[in-house]
Amino acid sequence: MDNIYLDYAATTPVDEEVFREIRKYSTVEGGLFGNPSSLHSFGRVAYTALENARDAVAREFNCHQSEVFFFSSATEANNFALRAVAEKYRKNTGSTPHIVVSETEHASVLETAKDMAVSGNAEISIVRPEEVEKTVRANTALISIMRVQNETGDVRDIAALSKEIIKKKNGMYPLVHTDNVQGYLYGQNVQELGVDMMTVSSHKIYGPKGAAALYIRGSRFDIKDIILPLMTGGGQEKGMRAGTENVQAIVGFAAALIISEKTRKKEFVRIKKLSERFIARIKEGISDVDIQRGDSESFCLGRSPHIISIRFSGVENFDKALDMEGIAASAGSACAQRAAKSTSLLRGSIRFSFGKYTTQDEVDEAVRRIILVYQNMTGKRSI
Ligand code: PLP
Repeated sequence: MDNIYLDYAATTPVDEEVFREIRKYSTVEGGLFGNPSSLHSFGRVAYTALENARDAVAREFNCHQSEVFFFSSATEANNFALRAVAEKYRKNTGSTPHIVVSETEHASVLETAKDMAVSGNAEISIVRPEEVEKTVRANTALISIMRVQNETGDVRDIAALSKEIIKKKNGMYPLVHTDNVQGYLYGQNVQELGVDMMTVSSHKIYGPKGAAALYIRGSRFDIKDIILPLMTGGGQEKGMRAGTENVQAIVGFAAALIISEKTRKKEFVRIKKLSERFIARIKEGISDVDIQRGDSESFCLGRSPHIISIRFSGVENFDKALDMEGIAASAGSACAQRAAKSTSLLRGSIRFSFGKYTTQDEVDEAVRRIILVYQNMTGKRSI
């Protein structure tokens, strides 16, 4: 067996059916490559494709299509969520906004929050996930907390949090934003989650890189009263995010989201079985392993089965040793690994993440190689 990919939380391959859609909107043969802002026939079909994609995303999110905005990545959408809400809050109230983020957020939220604190654009509280709710103050404009933690797989009860925050709301504030990039096995229904904003990324759900969606609730308040657009230009995305829309990526994203929602319940069961088998077999072969969790038991609903973080004691650079044996896993989140400053929660642990192309044979072979590498590095034999 060749290299085994166990890093689906970093990115996923594009689904073949999705890829066929993308081609249609990219090439001369496909004929659908137009700029959606152009008024001629090529532009009109691209515009129709864009709006059909928005309708599809809205159906899967269970929201109105006017509440869906496309961005180039979840990083961009998360930056926008924090910065654009803060700017509008300042404009609405004349005072400095307070933003609460959990300390386990992805760098795209955490580093944005820190940057806003340094530049004085907001007062920032970075707290344990279970402390988010009680950190709310009179001037809290936004809370941002991930649905499924990208390194540990911890699942948060965002619906319960949203309910509590609604009781504390003064007018529209505080708004609740959730980064649901890793939450696809649990669905993307914004009404069930009760959030005001939600981020989802295409390349984590078998869509192409270069597309993401930000949901902004428009049913309670006018979106223009919540958000101050940051990007000036051609006024695309109803003035929220200027720049020609990446139609082929967005169409691919919508197609991937439809497939993901249709298949996720079956996938959940299949991946759960694989992940339990993986953990049991690793534990059989190596005595000194610890499945890593971040959240307190009382706050967390469990672990998303597609993410497993394991601490192996007595080994350094284990991810690199595994890579040499053809196992692609990661030490923390992908972006934290190359960054000058790591924001990983999991120093010393390896994150294995499973996806729809992961097979039982791959899992068994991966376990065999992992145990072998561990034994070679530590000199410890099987227990
Ligand atoms: N949020 C979470 C939870 C993630 O796991 C990631 C990617 O690893 C991101 C945001 C950033 O996504 P993107 O690569 O689309 O910027």
